[in-house]
Amino acid sequence: MKKLLPALLLLAAACKQKEYNADMLVKNAVVYTVDSNFTTANAFVVSGGKILAVGSADSLEQKYNAREVLDVQGAAVYPGFIDGHAHFYEYGMGLQQVNLVSTHSWPEIIDSVKTFADKNTDGWLIGNGWDQNDWTTKQFPDKAKLDSLFPMRPVLLSRVDGHAAIANQAALNIAGVKPGQTIVGGTIETRNGKLTGILVDNAVGIVTRKIPQPTPAMVDTALLSAQKNCFAVGLTTVDDCGLPYTMVNAINELQHKGDLKMRMYVMLADRPENYEYLFKKGAIKTPGLNVRSFKVYADGALGSRGACLLKPYADSAKWNGFLLSDPKHFEEIAPKIAAHGFQMCTHAIGDSAVRTMLKIYAANLKGKNDLRWRIEHSQIVSPEDIALFGKYSIIPSVQPTHATSDMYWAGKRLGKERLKTAYAYKQLLDQNGWIPLGTDFPVENINPLYTFYAAVERKDLKGFPEAGFQKENALSRIEALKGMTIWAAKANFEEKEKGSIEPGKYADFVILDKDIMKAKGSELPTIKVTKTYINGVKVYDKK
Ligand SMILES: [Zn+2]
Repeated sequence: MKKLLPALLLLAAACKQKEYNADMLVKNAVVYTVDSNFTTANAFVVSGGKILAVGSADSLEQKYNAREVLDVQGAAVYPGFIDGHAHFYEYGMGLQQVNLVSTHSWPEIIDSVKTFADKNTDGWLIGNGWDQNDWTTKQFPDKAKLDSLFPMRPVLLSRVDGHAAIANQAALNIAGVKPGQTIVGGTIETRNGKLTGILVDNAVGIVTRKIPQPTPAMVDTALLSAQKNCFAVGLTTVDDCGLPYTMVNAINELQHKGDLKMRMYVMLADRPENYEYLFKKGAIKTPGLNVRSFKVYADGALGSRGACLLKPYADSAKWNGFLLSDPKHFEEIAPKIAAHGFQMCTHAIGDSAVRTMLKIYAANLKGKNDLRWRIEHSQIVSPEDIALFGKYSIIPSVQPTHATSDMYWAGKRLGKERLKTAYAYKQLLDQNGWIPLGTDFPVENINPLYTFYAAVERKDLKGFPEAGFQKENALSRIEALKGMTIWAAKANFEEKEKGSIEPGKYADFVILDKDIMKAKGSELPTIKVTKTYINGVKVYDKK
């Protein structure tokens, strides 16, 4: 008996060790952990909203006593998807406005506005998403029809990229816009002495600033309706690029109440009051909210010829586009952002805008660094400038669906030679060895699997072009998945807390009905999210 006792005690202790409590065991899965070795596993354990352990179901079941067992029956599981560049709040507001995405003509747009106006009889009529490149007549429309239908009610309809809009006379009157008026960094179109209603870049702001502020209830509705749609496509974090500081409180409160579960990385807009706010307050960091960066606009978009190019547009002689501010402005704010250790994220699409910003970044960053300053879009980069991204650790933040949306007309704007180094995501990835991916929704669809598909196949939803658009700049599936998870987390300084399924990280994950790492290329955009989890709590269930 004396000899047996120590052995029994040992055995009891060993049994005791296996009895760890946990909230959930996810098993029978193909878990793409997206850890540094890109390991797969078949199970993991969640506790207190975090990943506790990853491994084989057998060993985890022996060790952990889970309150809930989620048998996913062989499905593929990925870290929650992160959209590295989006306009989440604006998308949510858009859900309460006239949706003009995928409209095919000006008369169709007029019809949509009329239908919306009949149902919503008060206030401004605001619409978003038209794109004259999708019409048979690719000319900008004029406001005549809007004036006759809505003589008293202000109307503002923004182009899909937000860099151009059409306003009716009632809206222009409120904003005090006069024929022949000019504005730095924008165009107010006047034809035969009359306003056409078309406003480009900075001119759009003259009218948008007159739109009454949304009520707090409208703001909450916008955030929550955006969240609902984003959970259904597997997003668990979004980068919201360019918000006013006043939104920080609204988001924080809604997260605090537990209604807004989406994690948000908020870049504040390039406005004096936003700098003042964050410089004084310092970085804001909670599990759901991270504010430590500024979103700056260098130029406009290629579609509306607002992108600033080194040489004239191929389809508009003597026109190079323009910078939205004097370079002095960027030179002034960059050292201030650097001095606070904050991140500068600049929208730059044309090769001239990209060059201007790379040089200003370089002067402040000096060499390799970890400030992770970003160039949003980095769409057209002169071959001479590409190496600057690596030399100064500047992060290109790109949206693969832009390549497959723009490919129909980008060549017309740029000509053959320049097109070759446009949308060059693989080349850009090679600069730092990592790259965050996003969508820029509502400019593009919110679905991150369209991003994945566009990145690896370089095709649009019609399967065009058959060989892929400039396929040499496709990413591998591993690279694309990392771009939507761990690399997007890294671009937000959050790679230690999310972006992979590893012990200690938030239990944010997504279950798909097919494995995107193995499915046929053409199947990728049809793959659906079946469940989305944040903090180990289910936030979306397809059934
Ligand atoms: Zn954007």
